Amino acid sequence: MKELMPLEEALRIVLEHAKPLGTELVFLENALGRILAEDVKSDTDKPLFDNSAMDGYAVRSEDIKGASEESPKVLKVIGEHTAGTKETFKVEKGTAVKIYTGAPMPEGADTVVPVELTEEKNGEVYVKKELKEGANVRKKGEDVKEGEVVVKKGTQIRPYEVGMIAFVNRPIVRVYRRPKVGIVSTGDELLELGEPQTRPFQIRSSNHHMLFSLAKSAGAEPHLIGIVLDDPETLLRTLKNCHQYDIFITTGGVSMGEKDYVQYLIKEVGVEVKFHWVRIKPAKPVLFGTYGERGLFFGLPGNPVSCAVAFDLLVYPAIRKIMGAREIFKRKVKAELVKDFRRRDTKRREFARVRVWEENGSLLCEPHPKQQSHMLTSLVESNAYMIVPEGVGEIKRGESVDVVLFSDPF
Ligand code: AMP
Ligand code: MG
Repeated sequence: MKELMPLEEALRIVLEHAKPLGTELVFLENALGRILAEDVKSDTDKPLFDNSAMDGYAVRSEDIKGASEESPKVLKVIGEHTAGTKETFKVEKGTAVKIYTGAPMPEGADTVVPVELTEEKNGEVYVKKELKEGANVRKKGEDVKEGEVVVKKGTQIRPYEVGMIAFVNRPIVRVYRRPKVGIVSTGDELLELGEPQTRPFQIRSSNHHMLFSLAKSAGAEPHLIGIVLDDPETLLRTLKNCHQYDIFITTGGVSMGEKDYVQYLIKEVGVEVKFHWVRIKPAKPVLFGTYGERGLFFGLPGNPVSCAVAFDLLVYPAIRKIMGAREIFKRKVKAELVKDFRRRDTKRREFARVRVWEENGSLLCEPHPKQQSHMLTSLVESNAYMIVPEGVGEIKRGESVDVVLFSDPF
């Protein structure tokens, strides 16, 4: 019997070797999804000057004390401030300036009366309501002060951060480099996308395409190398290329089969194996090693579901850590199981594919009926893994379970 390593130990080893790469500058348009490697600070106070939050009239609050529908206060309109106005006016006792949203407050005025509380006739405005001093005025610096950090180092850039970074006039920002990931499927039986089937027992390869997308959505820079036959010579030639990448991922050929050469050949290209066989289900045969100064090698199992699980559990956090992300794990939440779950072998921690949804304010989850590791439908029709701990053979409906969501919510 192979000795299986506990998942925590495997993860600890992987993360110990996953070190952030350097940083690089990117144009803001290309910054979406990247992790900021600097604190971005505001170039000016925001707002830059006191301005109006409404279309209306800028007044002195003193002049509209006691104003009401029945006895409006009448002020002389002496000019107009539009957003970006070139001409400015000064409000003195008994006067008002017509003003629009975003336009600078005229000197002397402290309050904006919204247009719907007024009536303008013959160059005069009738104000029909008293307002508190400062009403509808946006104060200089009330959102952000000049020099204040507006987006912190380590933040993953979302469209909102893009907006803020533009607002503080930064066309270029410093982000962490993304790891380059080389991806290979191995197997004599595999057919590339579109390649005609010439023999009866060939199968279409899903894994390298799936891994490409998994790596990309984790934020890495994936490179598809393609399919390699289970032939030691070709395989060795392909594995030698690992040194061109920060991370090298193979799928297939790491189990107990006669032609599972990957585990032996990697040693010849300088990979030092750190572990092989982890106490999880699926994905037990997963292998991890290091090469060169900082290279990470992952030998993932060939069964498509095992391949995905191994990636999500071990490769994903490694990529996130290398990228400098603050959150390196997928989000784990509690959900209520709606159907009994049973299993015979309880030695390994299981990552059962489930569908999670919200109902009346609670999260519920239901295991997919097909849990075998060759059944891709169990991934396609699910959105989370339910964690079944070691030693647990049965979970009853109504019990609370830990689930790890597939998609990155950050
Ligand atoms: P292996 O780990 O090489 O023994 O493969 C285990 C199972 O996964 C076999 O049924 C393979 O045919 C299948 N398999 C291996 N690689 C792939 C792949 N790239 N795409 C789809 N299935 C695969
Ligand atoms: Mg194989």
